[in-house]
Amino acid sequence: MTQITDQLDNIRRRIARAAEAAGRAADDITLLAVSKQQPADAIEAAWRAGQRHFAENYLQEALQKMRALSHLDIQWHFIGRIQANKTRPIAEHFQWVHTIDRERIAVRLNEHRPDAAARLKVFVQINQGHEPQKGGAAEADAEALARLIAAQPRLELRGLMSIPPSGGERETRRYFERLRALRDDLIARGVGAESLSMGMSADFELAIACGSDFVRVGSAIFGPRPPR
Ligand SMILES: *Cc1c(COP(=O)(O)O)cnc(C)c1O
Repeated sequence: MTQITDQLDNIRRRIARAAEAAGRAADDITLLAVSKQQPADAIEAAWRAGQRHFAENYLQEALQKMRALSHLDIQWHFIGRIQANKTRPIAEHFQWVHTIDRERIAVRLNEHRPDAAARLKVFVQINQGHEPQKGGAAEADAEALARLIAAQPRLELRGLMSIPPSGGERETRRYFERLRALRDDLIARGVGAESLSMGMSADFELAIACGSDFVRVGSAIFGPRPPR
């Protein structure tokens, strides 16, 4: 577990350097520790090293870990694909959702968000490469979906998220810049999708250079994931 502490330190230093190089404050960038397929022990080790934001992809697995770690103050982010019949437990147990890609999911998350809880903070996921195996709305549908979310009383629209197609640095930069341009365009049109959720272990520094506010880092913190 000391390895997790060391790797977290290393990622934090790299985030600070990337922010500084981009003329940004390191505090403005939120590190999400992507803990899918990692045991509760590993999350607790990262928590003891000061990490508070954790991201999970698979609902049942996440709920088990939440129960095991209910003594810790953790901000849980859902970053997996959302089936319509899973919106209630997601709305009840997570504080953040990065992967809304259609209206039906937004409406159901709003319906199922408990009144006693703060509004659910959400991102619209964009499928920039039109890849069938990935979730995400088409860029052309982003504005309508963002406006619908902004009109839901139990949701708080936070921004746009993407997992661009894997590729070289130049191609990845192009996708990151395009997501940022889409965000800027929405803001200019009066849609308050302020933040960008982009960048993973292999490319979070590039994402920060391109304006990312939330980087989602898994294997660079926890090591390789065991097979599911
Ligand atoms: C798994 C996953 C990550 C983290 O990937 P790493 O390469 O391990 O950093 C980030 N975002 C999403 C949506 C993921 O599914």
